[in-house]
Parts: sequence; C-alpha cells; structure tokens
Amino acid sequence: MPKKLKILLASSEVAPLAKTGGLADVAGSLPKALKSLGHDVRVIMPLYTMVKQHNPKMKEEIPVLEIPIADRIEQGSVMSTFLGDTVPTYLIKHDRYYDREYLYTTPQGDYPDNAERFIFFSRAILEALKKLDFVPDIIHCNDWQTGLVPTYLKTLYSQDDFYKNTSTVFTVHNLGYQGKFWALDMPMTNLPWEVFSINGIEYYGDISFLKAGLMFSDVISTVSKGYSKEIQTPEYGIGMEGVLQYRSQDLYGILNGTDYDDWSPDKDKFIKTHYDVNSLEGKKVCREDLLKEFGLKVAENTPIIGMITRLADQKGFDILSEAMPELMKMNLAMVVLGTGEQKYHDLFNTLKKEYSQKLGVLIAFNNATAHKIEAGSDLFLMPSQYEPCGLNQMYSLKYGTVPVVRATGGLDDTIQDFDLKAGKGNGFKFSEYSSKALLKTVKMAIDVFEDKQKWLKIMKNGMNEDHSWKTSAKEYVNLYETAMKKHASL
Ligand code: ADP
Repeated sequence: MPKKLKILLASSEVAPLAKTGGLADVAGSLPKALKSLGHDVRVIMPLYTMVKQHNPKMKEEIPVLEIPIADRIEQGSVMSTFLGDTVPTYLIKHDRYYDREYLYTTPQGDYPDNAERFIFFSRAILEALKKLDFVPDIIHCNDWQTGLVPTYLKTLYSQDDFYKNTSTVFTVHNLGYQGKFWALDMPMTNLPWEVFSINGIEYYGDISFLKAGLMFSDVISTVSKGYSKEIQTPEYGIGMEGVLQYRSQDLYGILNGTDYDDWSPDKDKFIKTHYDVNSLEGKKVCREDLLKEFGLKVAENTPIIGMITRLADQKGFDILSEAMPELMKMNLAMVVLGTGEQKYHDLFNTLKKEYSQKLGVLIAFNNATAHKIEAGSDLFLMPSQYEPCGLNQMYSLKYGTVPVVRATGGLDDTIQDFDLKAGKGNGFKFSEYSSKALLKTVKMAIDVFEDKQKWLKIMKNGMNEDHSWKTSAKEYVNLYETAMKKHASL
C-alpha cells in the first residue's frame, strides 16, 4: 500500500451534522472513502446549533483554545465526535459565533460578523492541531470559509516547525461565494498588511477569503473537470478568472463522488419501499407515496418531474420561471423542494395555487422529502446557469430518475444525451441558457417517456453507472501527493 497520509479535511459544513448544500455531502463522505483506503483522515468544523440538534456523542478535547482576533483574545474550546463511526471529527466551539439558527445567511441576508466568525475558525484549526498534536501531511480546505488557512500557513506560521511539512489543497465547490469583506476587517486577521495586495488577499479594495485560498494553497481543485476549465473564462469566472488563469498549472478538477450508503434505492432509510435495477416494482410504490406527500393525483402515464434545490438564480430559476406557464400545459406533474431567495418562494407559492392539480411545492430544507423525490420522480430537472458538480443528477441516476440538465460544469461531465437509435446515454441535456431550450428538452424527454422500452433503457443505463467515491477518492490521494511534492520543492 502507498504511504499512509495524515489528512485533515476542514469544512464549514459536514453532512449529516450541518448542511446547506453539496459541500456538506462531500465533506461528510470523502473522508469515509479516504479512511477505507487506509489513510488517517480527520475532519474539523464549527460546532453550530444544527450540530447540537443532531445530538452526537461528544467528548471534550481542548477545554480552552485562545485565538487572537485583532488585539484581543477570543476563547473557544474543541469537542470531538465521529463521522460514520470511524472518522474523528473536531468541533470548534464558540457559542457567540456558532450557536445560531443558520450557518451563514438568514432569509434577511448574511450575518454581519461572518468575517470574524471564519477568521476565528481558520486560526482555531491551526491552533487546535497543535494542542491535539496531530501534524497533518495535508490540510484540505474547502471554500471561502477556510480560505485563510493556507494564508496563515504561508505567513504567520511559515517559520513554525510544527507545520513545516504540511501542505494545503484548496477545493472550490462554488466560485459564486467569495467571502468578500471590507478592508477594515483586515486587522482582525492579524495578517501583515503586505498580504493585502493584488498578489495576496486584496480583491478590488476588499478582502476575499476565496482569493486567499486560491493564492496561498499549494494546489487548487474544483469539483469537476468541466468546471475547472469554465472558471478560467470571463463567462464563468465571476471575476476570479485572472487568479485562476495565473494558477492554472496548479488547478485540477475532480468529480465529486456520492455516498451510496445514504443515496441508493436499495437501502434508503427515507423511502417507502426499496428497489434496484433488477426489480423496479418498488419505484412505482415510491411514486405513489410521493404523489400522496404532495397531495397530487396524476395518471400513471403522466411523468413526474422532481427538483431539489436552492432557489437561486444559479440554479436556473430565471429561465424556469419564464418556462413555467408552457411547462404546465404539458402532460406532466412537477414537485419542487427548495429554499432560498424570497422572490422564488413567493413565485412558487403563487404557482402552486394556480396549478394545484399538477404542481407540488415545499419551501423547506427537508432531507427526508429530498430522498422521496429522488425515488418517486420519473425525471429530475437541473437547468443550472452554472453547476460546479451537482450531486442530485448523480443521485437521480442511481434512483432510475432520468436527469434533464443544462450542459454546464459537472452536469455536462456526468450526463450523456440519450441516443434513441443506439440506446446509449443516461439523460437529456441542452446548451443554450434559455427557457426555449429548456422547454424543448423537457418535451423531448416526456415524448420518450411514452415509449416504455426506451425509457427503461435510459433508466437502467443510469442505474448501472458507478458514481461512488471509488475513483474520485483515489484521485484526491494523487492530488494530495502532488501538493506534498510541490510544498517540498518550495
Ligand atoms: P449546491 O451545493 O450548489 O446547493 P449540489 O447539487 O452540489 O448543489 O448539492 C445540493 C445538496 O443539497 C444535495 O444533497 C441536495 O439533495 C440537497 N438539498 C438542496 N436543497 C435541499 C432542500 N431544500 N431540502 C433538502 N435537501 C436539499
């Protein structure tokens, strides 16, 4: 076996303990896959209210952890638990920062002290490791909330013997969230002012924690090969394309894996009946159960389109809103589970009243319902403007729920258009970001749905694919080794 690595995965959310999106799924499942490859992997995250609500068995590891914030000392502590019974998971406790209803954003907007909360978290990670005497080969940082970790290592901790052999990987799960704060927050970081520059963490006069991670990590990755290329262009770079081009030699794309312990119809804890690719009867039962849950009555030959998503422009809700009246004229039913921007809450609540026979809407974050939608729907719609990886299309494949997606990022990498003649492909996709293209593709999919043999073929093509962590976890190990070589050569 290759060298056993010591890996710390730092993430601001980790499923099942605290989740707002795909980052949590990855942070909750990749470590388990790395562990099964024989590595010493541990996870670190904040101890939020949401974590406490899960009531995990916790042990106190560090009673007092002192972190400098500007010229004062903030006191926290460190608890620990296990992820999936095997992965040690450290929880940074500071109730004034993390004992709150939401993780980063309320429906009214971001918490005003997010800079301080994640400066504390980043610095606490580095101080906690010393107290725990865990010297990692790799700190795997994720998204802006941990962007300062590589920055601290290359500045305040650069002469610290404890970290001399520690390298960093910074993974971008979504470039749209950049952790931008005003320059006046700089003193809270205790970083030297020279770091506030174009080659550092300064971004058009502000501080960007995302840019911090991009500039100071040994290697960068993002969650699909497609997205790793897209983000180097002005169309998808959201202003960071210059930085990403500058670091393109160190930028990799590794597709997320999925955790089939949680997301597989043969063992899903939340669905009415189990089924698999060889016995699909249970899917009909799940379909009926889903219709019941949403109070819909539709004929057997009417396909159900599912959506589980943040209600945000990124997810394609502007073109979907435009397409809804036409979509509702087609022979289909639709169930939408989502939460996010108020304008879309209002819109979908209104649409639900207007099309109560065929549209079910639940404005909530509800994991059990998410599983029921995966199992009970016939199609799954993801018309995203951009999609770094996307997990739900891969869950859908496993559940025999055929994805209809826009060809972008990870959606383009994982979904192959169904070829009617050859019987190849696992879904339907469109390129142009428009309601017209969306409608045309949904129409094509529901036409094919009428041909039961063809439909079964697409379902089975998807169900037989393997989107577990098997391949991607090994790619991460290779990436860690690349980062270690890079670090050693500096
Ligand atoms: P993103 O991270 O951009 O939100 P992903 O497709 O990568 O999108 O991951 C989203 C994850 O969050 C999936 O596991 C999905 O099932 C889940 N999810 C999103 N919205 C909801 C919701 N309203 N209720 C339950 N789960 C949700």
